[in-house]
Order: sequence, then structure tokens, then C-alpha cells
Amino acid sequence: MKRPRIAIAGFQHETNTFAPFATAWEDFVKADAWPGLTRGEAVREAFADLNIPISGFLAAARDWDLVPLVWASAEPAGRVSDEAFDRITAMICDGIAEAGPLDGVYLDLHGAMVAESHDDGEGEILRRVRAVVGPDLPLVASLDFHANLTAAMVDQASALTVFRSYPHFDMAETGVRAWQLLMELLGRDAPLAKAWRQLPFLVPLVAQATTRPPLDAVFAGLDAPLADGLVSRDIAMGFPPADIHDAGCTVLAYGRSAEQVEAEAERLQDALLAVEPGLENPLIDEAEAVSLAMACEEPGPAVLADVQDNPGAGASSDTTGLLRALVDGGARGAAVACLWHPEAASAAHEAGLGARIPLALGGRYPKATGSRPFEADVEVEALSDGHFTCTGAMYGGCQAALGPMARLRVLHPEAEVRVVVTSERFQCLDLAVFRHMGIEPREQRVLAVKSTVHFLADFEPIAAAVLFVDSPGAHPCRLDRVTYRTLRPGLRLGPGGPPFEPGPERPVRPAH
Ligand SMILES: [Zn+2]
Repeated sequence: MKRPRIAIAGFQHETNTFAPFATAWEDFVKADAWPGLTRGEAVREAFADLNIPISGFLAAARDWDLVPLVWASAEPAGRVSDEAFDRITAMICDGIAEAGPLDGVYLDLHGAMVAESHDDGEGEILRRVRAVVGPDLPLVASLDFHANLTAAMVDQASALTVFRSYPHFDMAETGVRAWQLLMELLGRDAPLAKAWRQLPFLVPLVAQATTRPPLDAVFAGLDAPLADGLVSRDIAMGFPPADIHDAGCTVLAYGRSAEQVEAEAERLQDALLAVEPGLENPLIDEAEAVSLAMACEEPGPAVLADVQDNPGAGASSDTTGLLRALVDGGARGAAVACLWHPEAASAAHEAGLGARIPLALGGRYPKATGSRPFEADVEVEALSDGHFTCTGAMYGGCQAALGPMARLRVLHPEAEVRVVVTSERFQCLDLAVFRHMGIEPREQRVLAVKSTVHFLADFEPIAAAVLFVDSPGAHPCRLDRVTYRTLRPGLRLGPGGPPFEPGPERPVRPAH
């Protein structure tokens, strides 16, 4: 067989429609822990050996004739501007149109992108790409575990595959599965049969970990050998902080016969329905979490997850509820990361090491988060330019670029609490965040991390205890309290939750 000629591109965003700020073109251009917008052949080097889907695809397809077009992502936040959406989608479509004869296309997408004018971002990207390549060219995309899968995505793509772990250990592996699917399609003269189902309930991110029961067993089952004739099956747990018609959990199967894939999708749906009662929301009150953490006598830190202020789910990463509870609770040996507050970081840099200054930390989006600034005198204990290399299983090898950072100690007669302040939002999922600022995580009594589940990968192995805290933030995990307007009527707001009912003042937007 001649070497297949495949165009490859990536365009990722996880959109939280409740976030207090939108996502602009510039957010895709700049690097965070992942490279900034990268075009053409430079994609090969920028993405070599990272835990990112396109990296896995590049390695697996090294003997193919690949045509890299563009790759871009931005930190999760509010709706993607039409300018960013149209420009990056056009880079993909124009690149494909100008690439000459192709045997297929691979796209590294997220699956939960919402643009200003398109609630189903990936459905629209795939529709535009399909319009360029025609109805028959194999078009495969990999998606994030949190994809809100839609009929348009399933229709337009020849095949889709989804991460199978949360924390996302298998992002590069998912790129390899996309390569396998493309190889399968290249060896066939007919399209694959496909089936998918939307589940009738939303699952908050805090209940989606695949390292814990009951989802550990469900996801382990995906890796079991496939029955003859089945080609692929996946589950996407969905991204609930998106007030769109198709938010939620889905299952997907591909194979040779329609009957077989329908039966497999049904089976996966039943497996998820069976564990619905076991998908518990483990959130506990801030003050209770602090006293449990301080009472913990096991070796190692108690890790408090500030799950609803996770910037990796589009929150502002600047709420102060848990920080205040730590100080008020007289916590000692406690460290908080990452509090996003560029002005505070720059004030610390101006004051210099050892300076003692009054600051009003965080709490800059009270309308969206219900959190106000934390006012305190602090000592500037460490400063950095925010460049460091991540070391954990998820982001190992990635270069963080968080802008000016500061380690501040809250001056308080009883409490000993340090805060790591950044100039860019970054989910605290890697021990290198603390170590880079001179804090050894193993030696702390309490670590408060603005992360929902990803922190488990790096922090749980050293933790004496892990507690999930109910503190303010723009990434809601108590879904029955969320004011949705656009979901599917009847969709349960959380496992076992009340069904969504559109109020008369809140008409449901038609699906598109
Ligand atoms: Zn995800």
C-alpha cells in the first residue's frame, strides 16, 4: 500500500458558558502549558513526545505522509469569539483545500467548544471540513473525555474516539486510537456503521473520576477485547457547565453492521444507567474540610480540592472562600495554588522579596462567583517569571508559562497560610507548581488546589487525605442549583437529580 497522505490539525476549547469572561483570538495564540497557535511543519517539533492527542497520532503515523496544518488551544473560559472560531477553522479548511490529493483528515478536537454563534462548535468545524473534503473522504477526530457529543459531530465525522481516563492520562493514546481508526477506514471501501446515545442525566465533573468507583470499572470495560465486527466504542462523560441543548453524557460505537453497533451503544448506555445511583457528589463544607484536614494525623498533606474554582473547567481561579476558611480556621503549614491575580503578582514583584504589603487578593468576579477579595497583609517570600517544566503523569515535559508569579505568606497571629499567585490561569494539577515556588508539597500539612479531578494524578499518591470542598466558583458542581435555560427538557440535573424544566420566561432555544 502506498503511504497514506493525511492532513492533520488541532483546535481545542472547553467552553464554560457560565464563565465571567469570553475566549478571544489572542487566547489561542499564546502558549500556556501547551504550545500556542502553531502552523505547518512546526507542529511536528512543537508536539513531539507530549501527552496530547496529536502527539500520539504523529508518533503512530510516522511512516505516513502527514500534512500538518495548524494546532491551537486556549484555557477553558466563556464562549469562543466568532473571530477566533472562523479564523482557526478557516486555517484548517484552507489548508485542506490547498494540500492537494489527500487520503484522509485527522483532527485533534475537544468536543465541548461553544462559539458565539455556534452552540455546537465541533459540529460546525466538522461540517465545514466535510464540505471541503466531500462526503466520502475518511475524517477522524479525537475528543476529550468531557466532550458534549452531538448528532452533527457523529454525522459529519467518519469516526470519533474519546479519552478514557479522568485524570486524562491517555490523551496521546487517544491520538493513537484515532490513527488506528483512520487505518481501518483506509482499508475499507464502505463507511463504518455508527450508533450513539445521549444519557438522560448530567454528571458533575467532581463525580467523573475514572480512578474511583463506580466509573473505574465502566471505563476498564472499554478496553476489553471487541466482539468480532465491532471496531470501536467510547463514552464521553460530558461537560455540564455548558448551557446548551446537547450538554451531557453520551456513548458511541462503530463497526461493520448497524445491528451490532446499536446493540453495543445500548449496552454501554445500560452500564452507565446502572451506576447512576453510585455517582455520588462528595462535596463538603469549607470550614469542615479545614478542620478535618488539620485533624489528619497520617503522614503527608491533606489535599483540599477547590473544585468549583477550577480554571481547567473555565472558572476564574481567584475565589477566596477556601483561603479565608484556612486563615479563619487557624490552619498551619497550609499552601494554596494557583490564585490568578496578575495585579497582585505585579505588586509583589514591585515590592520585592521580603517586603510586607497590604493586598486585596482575588475575588474580582463577585457576580459570577459570589466571592469577594481577601484583604490581608502578606510577606513576599518568593518570586518567579512563571516558567517551569511540569513533571506529573498528565503534563510531564510541558513547559508552563504563567507570567510573573509570587509566593505570599498571609501575616496572621495564628494561621500559617501561603498563597501561590499567578498572572495566567492554570489548573493546579502538577506538583511542580509548588516546588517551582520553593514549597515542598510533601512537607505541608494542607494543600489547597484549584482543580476538580486532574490533581489526583500527581497529588493523591503523596496525600494523607483528599477532600472535595464546596466553595464558590464559576464551575458549578451542584447542578440542581444551576440556572440553566437551554438544556434538553427532562435531562436530570446530576445523577438522580431533578429533571430540567424550561420556565416560561426561559424558552428553550431550538436545536441546530
Ligand atoms: Zn477534559
